[in-house]
Amino acid sequence: MQWREWISRQLKAETVEPDQESGARAAAMFAARLTFEGVERRYGDFYALQHVDLDIAPGEVVCLLGPSGCGKTTLLRIASGIETPSAGRVLINDLEVAGPNAFVPPERRSVGLMFQDFALFPHLSILENVAFGLKQLPPAEARRSALAVLSRVGLQKFADGYPRTLSGGQQQRVALARAIVPRPSVMLMDEPFSGLDVQLRDEMQEETLALLRETRATSLIVTHHPEEAMRLGDRIAVLRGGRVMQFDKAETLYDHPADLLVARMFSEINEVSYSVNQGQIDTPLGRLDAPAGVKDGESAVVCIRERGIEVNRSGRGLPGRVLHVRFHGDIDLLEIGVQGFDAPLRVRTPRYENWSKGAEVGIEVDPARLLVFPAASDDSA
Ligand code: ATP
Repeated sequence: MQWREWISRQLKAETVEPDQESGARAAAMFAARLTFEGVERRYGDFYALQHVDLDIAPGEVVCLLGPSGCGKTTLLRIASGIETPSAGRVLINDLEVAGPNAFVPPERRSVGLMFQDFALFPHLSILENVAFGLKQLPPAEARRSALAVLSRVGLQKFADGYPRTLSGGQQQRVALARAIVPRPSVMLMDEPFSGLDVQLRDEMQEETLALLRETRATSLIVTHHPEEAMRLGDRIAVLRGGRVMQFDKAETLYDHPADLLVARMFSEINEVSYSVNQGQIDTPLGRLDAPAGVKDGESAVVCIRERGIEVNRSGRGLPGRVLHVRFHGDIDLLEIGVQGFDAPLRVRTPRYENWSKGAEVGIEVDPARLLVFPAASDDSA
Protein backbone atom coordinates (compact mmCIF):
# COMPACT_ATOMS: atom_id res chain seq x y z
CA MET A 1 0.00 0.00 0.00
CA GLN A 2 1.45 3.39 -1.01
CA TRP A 3 0.97 6.35 1.28
CA ARG A 4 1.39 9.18 -1.18
CA GLU A 5 -1.57 11.03 0.33
CA TRP A 6 0.27 11.21 3.64
CA ILE A 7 3.31 12.72 1.99
CA SER A 8 1.21 15.30 0.23
CA ARG A 9 -0.50 16.14 3.56
CA GLN A 10 2.92 16.64 5.09
CA LEU A 11 3.94 18.91 2.23
CA LYS A 12 0.80 20.95 2.78
CA ALA A 13 1.60 21.06 6.51
CA GLU A 14 4.38 23.50 5.66
CA THR A 15 1.72 26.16 5.44
CA VAL A 16 -0.09 25.54 8.75
CA GLU A 17 -0.85 28.52 10.91
CA PRO A 18 1.60 29.31 13.74
CA ASP A 19 -0.87 28.44 16.53
CA GLN A 20 -1.50 25.05 14.92
CA GLU A 21 2.22 24.47 14.75
CA SER A 22 2.75 24.93 18.44
CA GLY A 23 -0.21 22.64 19.18
CA ALA A 24 1.20 19.93 16.95
CA ARG A 25 4.63 19.97 18.54
CA ALA A 26 3.59 20.53 22.14
CA ALA A 27 1.77 17.22 22.21
CA ALA A 28 4.63 15.36 20.63
CA MET A 29 6.79 14.50 23.62
CA PHE A 30 4.58 12.02 25.47
CA ALA A 31 3.56 8.48 24.75
CA ALA A 32 -0.16 8.35 24.20
CA ARG A 33 -2.98 5.88 24.75
CA LEU A 34 -4.42 4.87 21.38
CA THR A 35 -7.96 3.55 21.41
CA PHE A 36 -10.20 2.17 18.69
CA GLU A 37 -13.83 1.89 19.74
CA GLY A 38 -16.18 -0.07 17.48
CA VAL A 39 -14.32 1.09 14.38
CA GLU A 40 -15.84 0.11 11.05
CA ARG A 41 -14.83 0.89 7.51
CA ARG A 42 -17.20 0.14 4.65
CA TYR A 43 -16.58 0.42 0.93
CA GLY A 44 -20.06 0.12 -0.57
CA ASP A 45 -21.43 -3.15 0.83
CA PHE A 46 -17.98 -4.44 1.73
CA TYR A 47 -16.73 -4.20 5.32
CA ALA A 48 -12.94 -3.76 5.38
CA LEU A 49 -13.16 -3.37 9.18
CA GLN A 50 -15.91 -4.58 11.47
CA HIS A 51 -16.32 -3.36 15.01
CA VAL A 52 -12.65 -3.12 15.89
CA ASP A 53 -11.98 -2.49 19.59
CA LEU A 54 -8.35 -2.06 20.63
CA ASP A 55 -6.98 -0.19 23.61
CA ILE A 56 -3.23 0.36 23.38
CA ALA A 57 -1.41 1.62 26.45
CA PRO A 58 1.04 4.54 26.32
CA GLY A 59 4.44 3.27 25.15
CA GLU A 60 3.10 -0.14 24.19
CA VAL A 61 4.22 -1.83 20.95
CA VAL A 62 1.36 -3.66 19.26
CA CYS A 63 1.62 -5.68 16.06
CA LEU A 64 -1.29 -6.05 13.66
CA LEU A 65 -1.00 -9.50 12.16
CA GLY A 66 -3.12 -11.13 9.51
CA PRO A 67 -3.39 -12.30 5.94
CA SER A 68 -3.47 -10.00 2.94
CA GLY A 69 -6.69 -8.02 2.70
CA CYS A 70 -7.76 -8.46 6.34
CA GLY A 71 -7.79 -4.71 7.00
CA LYS A 72 -4.40 -4.02 8.65
CA THR A 73 -3.46 -1.06 6.47
CA THR A 74 -6.98 0.34 6.63
CA LEU A 75 -6.77 0.42 10.43
CA LEU A 76 -3.39 2.15 10.27
CA ARG A 77 -4.75 4.69 7.79
CA ILE A 78 -7.68 5.39 10.09
CA ALA A 79 -5.33 5.87 13.06
CA SER A 80 -3.22 8.28 11.00
CA GLY A 81 -6.21 10.30 9.80
CA ILE A 82 -5.69 9.59 6.08
CA GLU A 83 -8.93 7.64 6.16
CA THR A 84 -12.08 8.15 8.22
CA PRO A 85 -14.04 5.39 9.94
CA SER A 86 -17.58 4.69 8.68
CA ALA A 87 -18.59 4.11 12.31
CA GLY A 88 -16.90 4.06 15.70
CA ARG A 89 -14.23 6.31 17.17
CA VAL A 90 -10.46 6.68 17.42
CA LEU A 91 -9.07 8.33 20.53
CA ILE A 92 -5.57 9.51 21.33
CA ASN A 93 -5.15 10.06 25.05
CA ASP A 94 -8.91 9.78 25.46
CA LEU A 95 -9.45 12.64 23.01
CA GLU A 96 -11.59 11.77 20.01
CA VAL A 97 -9.54 12.31 16.85
CA ALA A 98 -11.96 10.55 14.49
CA GLY A 99 -15.62 9.76 15.02
CA PRO A 100 -19.05 11.34 15.10
CA ASN A 101 -17.91 14.28 17.22
CA ALA A 102 -14.49 15.22 15.88
CA PHE A 103 -11.92 14.88 13.18
CA VAL A 104 -8.33 15.90 13.87
CA PRO A 105 -6.31 16.06 10.64
CA PRO A 106 -3.23 13.84 10.28
CA GLU A 107 -0.70 16.62 10.69
CA ARG A 108 -2.13 17.50 14.11
CA ARG A 109 -2.31 14.01 15.63
CA SER A 110 1.35 13.69 16.63
CA VAL A 111 1.67 10.46 14.70
CA GLY A 112 4.79 9.27 12.87
CA LEU A 113 4.49 7.03 9.84
CA MET A 114 6.86 4.58 8.30
CA PHE A 115 6.11 2.86 5.02
CA GLN A 116 6.85 -0.47 3.47
CA ASP A 117 8.88 1.13 0.65
CA PHE A 118 10.42 3.73 3.05
CA ALA A 119 9.15 6.52 0.73
CA LEU A 120 12.32 8.60 0.98
CA PHE A 121 12.45 11.70 -1.21
CA PRO A 122 15.05 11.02 -3.89
CA HIS A 123 15.71 14.70 -4.62
CA LEU A 124 16.42 15.57 -0.97
CA SER A 125 19.66 14.82 0.82
CA ILE A 126 19.58 12.31 3.65
CA LEU A 127 19.73 15.09 6.23
CA GLU A 128 16.91 16.94 4.44
CA ASN A 129 14.86 13.76 4.39
CA VAL A 130 15.25 13.38 8.14
CA ALA A 131 14.61 17.07 8.81
CA PHE A 132 11.49 16.92 6.66
CA GLY A 133 9.09 16.68 9.58
CA LEU A 134 10.75 19.57 11.44
CA LYS A 135 9.81 22.38 9.11
CA GLN A 136 8.24 24.36 11.92
CA LEU A 137 11.57 24.61 13.72
CA PRO A 138 14.24 27.21 12.92
CA PRO A 139 16.56 25.66 10.27
CA ALA A 140 19.60 25.43 12.56
CA GLU A 141 17.58 23.65 15.25
CA ALA A 142 15.98 21.30 12.70
CA ARG A 143 19.43 20.46 11.36
CA ARG A 144 20.79 19.80 14.85
CA SER A 145 17.90 17.51 15.75
CA ALA A 146 18.07 15.65 12.43
CA LEU A 147 21.84 15.15 12.79
CA ALA A 148 21.39 13.85 16.35
CA VAL A 149 18.89 11.22 15.20
CA LEU A 150 20.99 10.34 12.15
CA SER A 151 23.89 9.83 14.50
CA ARG A 152 21.69 7.65 16.74
CA VAL A 153 21.04 5.34 13.77
CA GLY A 154 24.72 5.41 12.80
CA LEU A 155 24.38 7.35 9.55
CA GLN A 156 25.65 10.84 10.32
CA LYS A 157 28.47 10.47 7.81
CA PHE A 158 25.91 10.04 5.03
CA ALA A 159 24.04 13.26 5.91
CA ASP A 160 24.89 15.03 2.67
CA GLY A 161 24.44 12.00 0.41
CA TYR A 162 21.25 11.00 -1.38
CA PRO A 163 18.94 8.02 -0.74
CA ARG A 164 19.95 6.25 -3.98
CA THR A 165 23.47 5.81 -2.61
CA LEU A 166 22.24 3.86 0.45
CA SER A 167 21.67 0.13 0.93
CA GLY A 168 18.21 -1.17 1.85
CA GLY A 169 19.07 -1.35 5.54
CA GLN A 170 20.49 2.18 5.53
CA GLN A 171 17.37 3.50 3.78
CA GLN A 172 15.27 1.80 6.42
CA ARG A 173 17.28 3.57 9.14
CA VAL A 174 16.80 6.95 7.42
CA ALA A 175 13.05 6.32 7.15
CA LEU A 176 12.96 5.42 10.82
CA ALA A 177 14.99 8.50 11.76
CA ARG A 178 12.63 10.68 9.70
CA ALA A 179 9.58 9.24 11.40
CA ILE A 180 11.00 9.48 14.91
CA VAL A 181 12.70 12.89 14.82
CA PRO A 182 9.54 14.95 15.51
CA ARG A 183 9.08 12.75 18.63
CA PRO A 184 5.59 11.52 17.70
CA SER A 185 3.38 10.16 20.46
CA VAL A 186 2.21 7.37 18.19
CA MET A 187 4.27 5.52 15.57
CA LEU A 188 2.43 3.73 12.79
CA MET A 189 4.54 1.34 10.73
CA ASP A 190 3.26 -0.48 7.65
CA GLU A 191 5.34 -3.62 7.07
CA PRO A 192 8.55 -1.70 7.79
CA PHE A 193 10.85 -4.70 7.33
CA SER A 194 9.32 -6.44 4.35
CA GLY A 195 11.76 -4.88 1.87
CA LEU A 196 14.82 -6.24 3.69
CA ASP A 197 16.57 -9.57 3.36
CA VAL A 198 16.24 -12.01 6.24
CA GLN A 199 19.52 -11.29 8.05
CA LEU A 200 19.19 -7.56 7.79
CA ARG A 201 15.60 -7.85 8.93
CA ASP A 202 16.65 -9.40 12.25
CA GLU A 203 19.18 -6.66 12.87
CA MET A 204 16.78 -3.87 11.92
CA GLN A 205 14.00 -5.29 14.05
CA GLU A 206 16.26 -5.14 17.11
CA GLU A 207 17.44 -1.62 16.33
CA THR A 208 13.95 -0.36 15.61
CA LEU A 209 12.56 -1.83 18.79
CA ALA A 210 15.37 -0.25 20.81
CA LEU A 211 14.63 3.14 19.28
CA LEU A 212 10.89 2.81 19.86
CA ARG A 213 11.55 1.94 23.51
CA GLU A 214 13.86 4.96 23.87
CA THR A 215 11.31 7.36 22.47
CA ARG A 216 8.45 5.61 24.32
CA ALA A 217 6.24 6.13 21.28
CA THR A 218 3.10 4.03 21.34
CA SER A 219 3.58 1.86 18.26
CA LEU A 220 1.34 -0.02 15.88
CA ILE A 221 3.25 -2.22 13.46
CA VAL A 222 1.65 -4.06 10.54
CA THR A 223 3.16 -7.41 9.64
CA HIS A 224 2.35 -10.62 7.78
CA HIS A 225 4.85 -12.60 9.82
CA PRO A 226 3.95 -14.21 13.16
CA GLU A 227 7.62 -14.48 14.15
CA GLU A 228 8.12 -10.77 13.59
CA ALA A 229 4.99 -10.01 15.60
CA MET A 230 6.17 -12.22 18.47
CA ARG A 231 9.56 -10.58 18.46
CA LEU A 232 8.37 -6.99 18.34
CA GLY A 233 4.96 -6.80 19.93
CA ASP A 234 4.15 -6.43 23.62
CA ARG A 235 0.79 -7.64 22.35
CA ILE A 236 -0.45 -8.86 19.00
CA ALA A 237 -3.82 -8.18 17.41
CA VAL A 238 -4.73 -10.95 14.97
CA LEU A 239 -7.06 -9.65 12.28
CA ARG A 240 -9.16 -11.68 9.89
CA GLY A 241 -11.92 -10.52 7.58
CA GLY A 242 -11.79 -7.04 9.13
CA ARG A 243 -12.29 -8.35 12.68
CA VAL A 244 -9.94 -8.68 15.62
CA MET A 245 -9.91 -12.42 16.29
CA GLN A 246 -7.59 -12.25 19.29
CA PHE A 247 -5.60 -9.50 21.03
CA ASP A 248 -3.10 -10.70 23.56
CA LYS A 249 0.51 -11.41 24.46
CA ALA A 250 2.42 -13.77 22.19
CA GLU A 251 2.56 -16.47 24.89
CA THR A 252 -1.21 -16.49 25.21
CA LEU A 253 -1.69 -16.63 21.44
CA TYR A 254 0.70 -19.56 21.33
CA ASP A 255 -0.66 -21.48 24.33
CA HIS A 256 -4.34 -20.62 23.95
CA PRO A 257 -5.10 -19.67 20.34
CA ALA A 258 -8.69 -18.57 19.83
CA ASP A 259 -9.25 -20.87 16.87
CA LEU A 260 -7.57 -23.21 14.42
CA LEU A 261 -6.40 -20.43 12.10
CA VAL A 262 -4.67 -18.58 14.94
CA ALA A 263 -3.11 -21.89 16.08
CA ARG A 264 -1.72 -22.41 12.57
CA MET A 265 -0.12 -18.95 12.62
CA PHE A 266 1.83 -19.51 15.83
CA SER A 267 3.06 -23.07 15.60
CA GLU A 268 3.59 -25.86 13.14
CA ILE A 269 0.89 -28.41 13.83
CA ASN A 270 -0.40 -31.76 12.68
CA GLU A 271 -4.15 -31.55 12.20
CA VAL A 272 -6.24 -34.67 12.54
CA SER A 273 -10.03 -34.62 12.09
CA TYR A 274 -12.37 -36.70 14.21
CA SER A 275 -16.09 -37.07 14.48
CA VAL A 276 -17.55 -36.08 17.86
CA ASN A 277 -19.38 -38.81 19.75
CA GLN A 278 -21.26 -38.10 22.98
CA GLY A 279 -19.33 -34.87 23.45
CA GLN A 280 -15.98 -36.63 23.14
CA ILE A 281 -13.33 -37.51 20.60
CA ASP A 282 -11.52 -40.84 20.61
CA THR A 283 -7.94 -40.53 19.45
CA PRO A 284 -4.93 -42.87 19.65
CA LEU A 285 -3.60 -40.45 22.25
CA GLY A 286 -6.65 -40.87 24.46
CA ARG A 287 -10.18 -39.57 24.82
CA LEU A 288 -10.57 -35.79 24.61
CA ASP A 289 -13.47 -33.44 25.30
CA ALA A 290 -15.06 -32.02 22.16
CA PRO A 291 -14.77 -28.23 21.79
CA ALA A 292 -17.76 -26.18 22.97
CA GLY A 293 -20.51 -25.89 20.38
CA VAL A 294 -19.53 -28.93 18.29
CA LYS A 295 -22.41 -31.40 18.23
CA ASP A 296 -22.30 -35.17 17.97
CA GLY A 297 -21.55 -36.28 14.42
CA GLU A 298 -19.80 -33.00 13.56
CA SER A 299 -16.06 -32.73 13.00
CA ALA A 300 -13.44 -31.45 15.37
CA VAL A 301 -9.74 -30.99 14.66
CA VAL A 302 -7.09 -32.19 17.05
CA CYS A 303 -3.83 -30.22 16.73
CA ILE A 304 -0.57 -31.89 17.71
CA ARG A 305 2.35 -29.50 17.71
CA GLU A 306 5.29 -30.71 15.67
CA ARG A 307 7.59 -29.65 18.51
CA GLY A 308 5.35 -31.22 21.14
CA ILE A 309 5.98 -34.85 20.17
CA GLU A 310 8.67 -36.75 22.09
CA VAL A 311 10.38 -39.45 20.06
CA ASN A 312 12.28 -42.25 21.83
CA ARG A 313 14.15 -45.38 20.80
CA SER A 314 12.96 -47.42 23.74
CA GLY A 315 9.41 -47.78 22.44
CA ARG A 316 7.61 -45.79 25.15
CA GLY A 317 4.18 -44.54 24.09
CA LEU A 318 2.66 -45.28 20.71
CA PRO A 319 4.78 -47.38 18.34
CA GLY A 320 5.93 -45.76 15.12
CA ARG A 321 8.47 -45.92 12.31
CA VAL A 322 10.50 -43.05 10.89
CA LEU A 323 9.52 -42.68 7.24
CA HIS A 324 11.50 -39.62 6.29
CA VAL A 325 14.19 -37.38 7.80
CA ARG A 326 14.74 -33.87 6.51
CA PHE A 327 17.59 -31.61 7.62
CA HIS A 328 16.32 -28.26 8.95
CA GLY A 329 19.41 -26.74 10.55
CA ASP A 330 19.25 -27.08 14.33
CA ILE A 331 16.38 -29.52 14.10
CA ASP A 332 15.39 -32.50 12.03
CA LEU A 333 11.94 -32.67 10.53
CA LEU A 334 10.75 -36.27 10.78
CA GLU A 335 7.76 -37.95 9.26
CA ILE A 336 6.68 -40.83 11.43
CA GLY A 337 4.04 -43.43 10.68
CA VAL A 338 2.32 -43.86 14.05
CA GLN A 339 -0.02 -46.66 15.03
CA GLY A 340 -3.63 -45.47 14.98
CA PHE A 341 -3.03 -42.48 12.65
CA ASP A 342 -3.95 -42.69 8.96
CA ALA A 343 -1.38 -40.13 7.87
CA PRO A 344 2.23 -39.76 9.08
CA LEU A 345 2.85 -37.21 11.85
CA ARG A 346 5.44 -34.48 11.31
CA VAL A 347 7.84 -34.06 14.23
CA ARG A 348 10.47 -31.38 14.84
CA THR A 349 13.18 -32.77 17.04
CA PRO A 350 16.75 -31.75 18.01
CA ARG A 351 19.23 -32.76 15.35
CA TYR A 352 21.80 -34.38 17.68
CA GLU A 353 19.57 -37.45 18.00
CA ASN A 354 20.63 -38.67 14.52
CA TRP A 355 17.35 -40.22 13.51
CA SER A 356 17.42 -42.34 10.41
CA LYS A 357 14.80 -43.57 8.01
CA GLY A 358 13.29 -46.92 9.06
CA ALA A 359 14.04 -46.51 12.79
CA GLU A 360 11.47 -48.11 15.09
CA VAL A 361 10.48 -45.54 17.71
CA GLY A 362 7.96 -44.71 20.38
CA ILE A 363 6.16 -41.38 20.49
CA GLU A 364 4.65 -39.56 23.44
CA VAL A 365 2.50 -36.44 23.51
CA ASP A 366 1.44 -34.55 26.63
CA PRO A 367 -2.39 -34.57 26.31
CA ALA A 368 -2.51 -31.23 28.14
CA ARG A 369 -0.67 -29.64 25.22
CA LEU A 370 -3.10 -30.83 22.55
CA LEU A 371 -5.44 -28.25 21.05
CA VAL A 372 -8.95 -29.13 19.90
CA PHE A 373 -11.07 -26.87 17.70
CA PRO A 374 -14.21 -27.01 15.60
CA ALA A 375 -13.28 -27.75 11.98
CA ALA A 376 -12.34 -24.36 10.46
CA SER A 377 -13.67 -22.72 7.39
CA ASP A 378 -10.63 -21.81 5.31
CA ASP A 379 -11.81 -18.28 4.73
CA SER A 380 -8.56 -16.93 6.08
CA ALA A 381 -8.74 -13.28 4.91
P1 ATP B 1 -2.13 -6.26 2.68
O1 ATP B 1 -1.46 -7.03 3.76
O2 ATP B 1 -2.23 -7.00 1.40
O3 ATP B 1 -1.64 -4.84 2.54
P2 ATP B 1 -4.29 -5.41 4.39
O4 ATP B 1 -4.62 -6.36 5.48
O5 ATP B 1 -3.46 -4.23 4.76
O6 ATP B 1 -3.67 -6.17 3.16
P3 ATP B 1 -6.20 -3.44 3.49
O7 ATP B 1 -5.28 -2.74 2.54
O8 ATP B 1 -6.50 -2.79 4.78
O9 ATP B 1 -5.68 -4.93 3.77
O10 ATP B 1 -7.57 -3.75 2.73
C1 ATP B 1 -8.64 -4.42 3.37
C2 ATP B 1 -9.72 -4.67 2.36
O11 ATP B 1 -10.34 -3.45 2.00
C3 ATP B 1 -9.21 -5.31 1.07
O12 ATP B 1 -10.14 -6.28 0.63
C4 ATP B 1 -9.16 -4.15 0.11
O13 ATP B 1 -9.38 -4.57 -1.22
C5 ATP B 1 -10.31 -3.28 0.59
N1 ATP B 1 -10.08 -1.87 0.30
C6 ATP B 1 -9.08 -1.11 0.79
N2 ATP B 1 -9.18 0.16 0.32
C7 ATP B 1 -10.26 0.18 -0.50
C8 ATP B 1 -10.92 1.20 -1.28
N3 ATP B 1 -10.44 2.44 -1.30
N4 ATP B 1 -12.02 0.85 -1.98
C9 ATP B 1 -12.52 -0.41 -1.92
N5 ATP B 1 -11.96 -1.41 -1.20
C10 ATP B 1 -10.86 -1.13 -0.50
